[in-house]
Amino acid sequence: MHSTIKNTIKENKNQVIRFCQDLVKIPTQNPPKENYNQIIERIKKELGNQFDCKIYYENTKPNLIVKWIIGGKKTIHINSHYDVVPAKGDWKTEPFDPQIQDNKIYGRGSADCKSNICVSIYAIKLMKKINLEPSCNVELSFTCDEESGGFDGMGSLVKNKIISPDYAIIADGPVKGINNAHKGVLALNITVIGKSSHAGWPHKGKNAFIIACKLAEELDKLNLKYKDIKSKCDSKLPRVSLRLNPWRYGRGACRLGCVPV
Ligand SMILES: [Zn+2]
Repeated sequence: MHSTIKNTIKENKNQVIRFCQDLVKIPTQNPPKENYNQIIERIKKELGNQFDCKIYYENTKPNLIVKWIIGGKKTIHINSHYDVVPAKGDWKTEPFDPQIQDNKIYGRGSADCKSNICVSIYAIKLMKKINLEPSCNVELSFTCDEESGGFDGMGSLVKNKIISPDYAIIADGPVKGINNAHKGVLALNITVIGKSSHAGWPHKGKNAFIIACKLAEELDKLNLKYKDIKSKCDSKLPRVSLRLNPWRYGRGACRLGCVPV
């Protein structure tokens, strides 16, 4: 069976690569949350009609759930998101015209996480092809808005109890292999209020910018404390950290997940 699996993957390699390139070509940038319906249609087309597919809309945005029910007692769920961060900055290749170099696909979202969409779809498609039945029911989901918190994507599916699997794998990002933890996030906006005065008499006012700089320095020192906090499980993820980001200042500054440059 092992060699059958290997050979089937080899035989379908070009198809998987083409599918991944097709997905990267659809700019599902978030913001502005564009082409969501278009990518769902493309994913559905690749799946064909051998699986049960259903679209759940949240605030007009689609989330696709694919089911392969074998009558098992347990269900495993594999999720990938289809939105990508905007293709800003300097690119050596066109972000939405994916190129293959050194066995890698270069394009916005190829790693995070359109290749994962391809892998999970081809995992079940090829298993069907060689009559390899899973040991439990398999559910896949392709969800929106992960790059902005996922509230209308995976958040909505869980909150509305549309999915409630026994096991789940989040197929996302560039971590190699299976990692048994996920970093959470807490985002806070801090407003520093000063006191206006004439520039000639600055001592009569309170410069909010200077206060913010001092505050930023103090908050950044917390990172020294955080370096001793370790995950309870054996995780490959980086340690807990605090990142300060001047709102709407510098490249990447508006994105929750980026350090500004
Ligand atoms: Zn991701």
